[in-house]
Amino acid sequence: MDMRHRAIWLALVAMLALPLPARAAGTGCEDGRVGLAAGSVATTDAGTALSLVLSTAALSGASACVLVGLLAAGDGTTDRPIAPGGPAGLAEQLAWAAAWLRSDTVPSVLEFRDGRVVLPARLTLQERAVWLVLAAGRGQTAWLRARERFERHPAAAEVRRAAPAAPRDVDGVVLERPWPAGTRVAHLSFFDHYVPDVDRVPAQQRNRVMIDYLGRTGSRYDGHDGHDYTFPDAPFATPVLAAAPGTAYAFGSDARGLGVVIRHAAGFETVYWHLGSIDGGLAALIDRQIGLPVVAGERIGTSGASGTSGTPHLHFEVRRHGKQFDPYGWYGPAGDPCVGYAWCAPSSWLWSPALAGEFDFTPPLTDAVAPHLIMTVDPDPAVALLAQFDGHALQAIGQGVPQLAGAPTFVSGRMGDAVTLNGTDRLAYATAPHLDPALGAIALWVYVPLAAVGTVLASSADPTAAGGGAGTLELRRELRGVTYTWVFATIGDAGTTQRDELLAADGLAPGWRHLVLVWRRSDGLKQLSLDGRLAASTTRAALPTSLGTTLELGRLAPTTPAAAFSYDELVIYRTIRTASQVAALANGNARFSVAPVPRDRITVDVNAMDRESALGELVVYTDDRLVSRGAFRETLLLQPPAALWSLTVRVADAAGNVSTSTQVVPLGRQLFVPRVAAP
Ligand SMILES: [Zn+2]
Repeated sequence: MDMRHRAIWLALVAMLALPLPARAAGTGCEDGRVGLAAGSVATTDAGTALSLVLSTAALSGASACVLVGLLAAGDGTTDRPIAPGGPAGLAEQLAWAAAWLRSDTVPSVLEFRDGRVVLPARLTLQERAVWLVLAAGRGQTAWLRARERFERHPAAAEVRRAAPAAPRDVDGVVLERPWPAGTRVAHLSFFDHYVPDVDRVPAQQRNRVMIDYLGRTGSRYDGHDGHDYTFPDAPFATPVLAAAPGTAYAFGSDARGLGVVIRHAAGFETVYWHLGSIDGGLAALIDRQIGLPVVAGERIGTSGASGTSGTPHLHFEVRRHGKQFDPYGWYGPAGDPCVGYAWCAPSSWLWSPALAGEFDFTPPLTDAVAPHLIMTVDPDPAVALLAQFDGHALQAIGQGVPQLAGAPTFVSGRMGDAVTLNGTDRLAYATAPHLDPALGAIALWVYVPLAAVGTVLASSADPTAAGGGAGTLELRRELRGVTYTWVFATIGDAGTTQRDELLAADGLAPGWRHLVLVWRRSDGLKQLSLDGRLAASTTRAALPTSLGTTLELGRLAPTTPAAAFSYDELVIYRTIRTASQVAALANGNARFSVAPVPRDRITVDVNAMDRESALGELVVYTDDRLVSRGAFRETLLLQPPAALWSLTVRVADAAGNVSTSTQVVPLGRQLFVPRVAAP
């Protein structure tokens, strides 16, 4: 060891104490001061070192005190003052250490050239990070010495104090992960420790401050009273498990979609919203206020997007005696701000000790794929949903994201690409707010392979009943006698079970067909058009008042195999279609954006989807000027700054991959919106 440099570092660390600048208050040691000695280490004087510490702390959110403690624990080499295995340079070492101090995925096993060490579960995340940073490039003996040096610094108390309060008075309640072990998870948003009032106060009245359990600001999202998780491998089908034993109640009519609340011991409740389905016995008790006993780890349903209009996710929430409770505890500086809010219970780690240190309880995600992004400027107000299948299933107009499973293939189609579902592949769109059972139209291109029969598309409130149960709308192709026939089938509500089948003969040859369904419940109108012409019509059909939650392609029920059709340009309209509109669609002459006239506001429909992790920030520019930056939104209302301008939206995913879409919008002239989507 270089004793001269070691001595200088010790002096540097021990002698000078400077008050923190106001902006860094709360990030230092307990007395609000960090110490760095006067003097110099090779090319770096103490003032420069201190300002580097403070700026690293300010930029990263890491504690200046802990960074100084790490410098004190190092062995004084000039280019790698904290650990010989870190990057070269004081600034680089500080930034590297700060990144670990703020990481929520610190490994629980350290590898040394002379063995491995499993970190004890009792360590706080910051302690783990300190132990890991000090291990870099050291053998186990040198690592233990570095830890001893760190222990003598006030920072050691700080990293321990950053621990969540030990579970107090929780009467043995312990939470297990509410999904199967090994499931990949992205932690989409966090509990807001500064007034978690999302279910109590409208967005515009919230305090606009979000502080998560690590004391970070800038996480999502203000007022959030739980944790949101997404499951990139099966966003709509990951099993959701009871986190602890208790009595489970199922809910279906809440604005948050399908949900389960489980009452546990000691006044605790766990809450699971936005489910895609609720399992067996519980499903029969939806909204009946009758509880069913569950054990920890018991499956209660599957993940989904019910009650949301964005990324499918599980909203997981804990309450105690009716107050919001963060089961991760509180790691930030000073006291838990949550306790100052009447509806908040003091936060405490409530997860199983085996999960400590793995904040998502999962291997870290690798996401190198940018989100899909499409924007449509001034969408035709009659169009509720438009999916063009140009390389992906995300709609160009509409809300939410498609429900997608398997790997649908995109092939050359009738209007650009088309999508083909194979066997167990699933593609479905939410019916709300796109499909109105009272009135509307669906248009699409369907590729019919030779002798293909089966369901083209369907929405059914009771999809498992033979032939579809009450509340069904279905288009299928059948062989009736010797004739292939299109069947536009509808079934009325439960109790009426009136069926209507509108039939149109189809040819034998394989190929593309254009189909338009029209319905209007007020007078029982149903129409079926084939290749631009009305093929069948009735005014006596019984139409249901409600349908299922999804419009499935290729099947009636989400779990049955897909029929062999391919699809292109699926449009759901809010209004019926006239003969000339049907003809224009079949001729490929339909427009889905309206031509602008000079005015002060335009509407932009933004759609984005990320299958690997989750959507992050949305940034909007007009004429290269930043207009807004914030959480992803599906609808933008913009005031155009000039007669001719460009509009750019940029979406990042949770891993920082970015997609951009730009369109030139010449206001006051015919609007040309290219069909090309961003990568
Ligand atoms: Zn949530």
